[in-house]
Amino acid sequence: MSLELRDVTVTLGRGESRTTALREVSVRFAPSALTALVGPSGSGKSTLLAVAGALLRPDSGQVLLGDRDIARLSSAEQARLRRERVGYVFQSGNLLSGLTALEQLLAAASIAGRPPRGMRSRAEELLTEVGLAHRLRHRADELSGGERQRIAIARALLLEPELLLVDEPTAAVDRERAAGLVDLLAGTTHRHGCVTVVATHDPVVEEAADRVVDMSRLRAAAGPRA
Ligand code: ADP
Repeated sequence: MSLELRDVTVTLGRGESRTTALREVSVRFAPSALTALVGPSGSGKSTLLAVAGALLRPDSGQVLLGDRDIARLSSAEQARLRRERVGYVFQSGNLLSGLTALEQLLAAASIAGRPPRGMRSRAEELLTEVGLAHRLRHRADELSGGERQRIAIARALLLEPELLLVDEPTAAVDRERAAGLVDLLAGTTHRHGCVTVVATHDPVVEEAADRVVDMSRLRAAAGPRA
């Protein structure tokens, strides 16, 4: 199932801070492909991820997941879509501070209504793959920013989403770890056939990506008003 934005415009803020974050952006992301979304800070990468994941409604335009315009779904339908089909990894990790690394994953699976069978061993496997085998029973508030984000990656992968949206996954980790994380994201994308979009400044991600989309070109392509 592909993801396509058609003529998407998003304005953010009010009054003097009102900004057109995306202006008539059209772009398609294919399944089984990891796309690196690049461009200077402020070029709209995070906004595009939010619109793609039904966290933000555009002012105009369509956001097609398959042939369904997810921008037009009711709030309840959007919440269900986010829970069941979309995996997000934000820079903050969005973890529950009182839970251990392993519990973060198991809680997410339970909230998403996944059968518990096999979840624990799969969760341990994924945490090991992101280099956290020695941190399974540490609480999120006892871990570093980079470790928290790696938990968020493992959590997103556990649920095998159709759409995987990742913001700067390698910003807080060393180079060797960065390459490992990108390989994990790319491998999962190819195996499960999901659409993966990674906002990044990191050449390591660009190199491993199946495709690179430059936000500044998308904006330029929107015409003289961009
Ligand atoms: P990036 O992720 O590429 O750094 P963003 O999507 O965060 O870009 O931001 C796109 C533009 O929208 C920027 O010009 C930013 O300043 C602006 N922006 C982001 N959030 C808000 C907000 N809440 N109110 C007003 N403008 C915002």
